[in-house]
Amino acid sequence: MTKIQKQCAICEKPFIPKTVNSIYCCKICSDTAYRKRKVQLKKEEQRKAVASRIPDERKYISVPEAIILFGVAKSTLYRHIRQGRIPAINLGTRLVRIDRATIEKMFPIREDTSGMKEFSAVKLYRLEPEDCYTIGEISKKFGISDSSVYKHIRKFSIPIRQIGKYVYAPKSEIDSIYNSE
Ligand SMILES: [Zn+2]
Repeated sequence: MTKIQKQCAICEKPFIPKTVNSIYCCKICSDTAYRKRKVQLKKEEQRKAVASRIPDERKYISVPEAIILFGVAKSTLYRHIRQGRIPAINLGTRLVRIDRATIEKMFPIREDTSGMKEFSAVKLYRLEPEDCYTIGEISKKFGISDSSVYKHIRKFSIPIRQIGKYVYAPKSEIDSIYNSE
């Protein structure tokens, strides 16, 4: 029986999953993923805590508040302040207050999409040869080099399966990435 290869959601190397739900190639990668998730959760908690302390009607916020609320680097904020792109008032040493609405427009809070990659990684595919193209077929059909095909397969986390010397990828996924233009 041929095993289905997946791409590790952390190191991006192909691996043979132990179960259909495996998305990491090894213990080190799954530990890394766990730590990353914890850091993200903590940041999100901090953001919510700070947000709940600032009433909606408050127009000016401090630099540390802006850093946590909008995930912007301190140096970036100060650069925008110096260049006059973010209106600021100075209430004294270390008491700069900056215009919240402006920062909000410049740095909209991004949705956390880190969980999405895992979601797509566990999506199940029929990887029977009749549902798949070989890499050679893809490059011929869409006029792209083999190496570009592999690059796109990695970029879009498309599952592949190797049988003998041929590597197969599901037609549905390949058609959807190349026919979308
Ligand atoms: Zn890995």
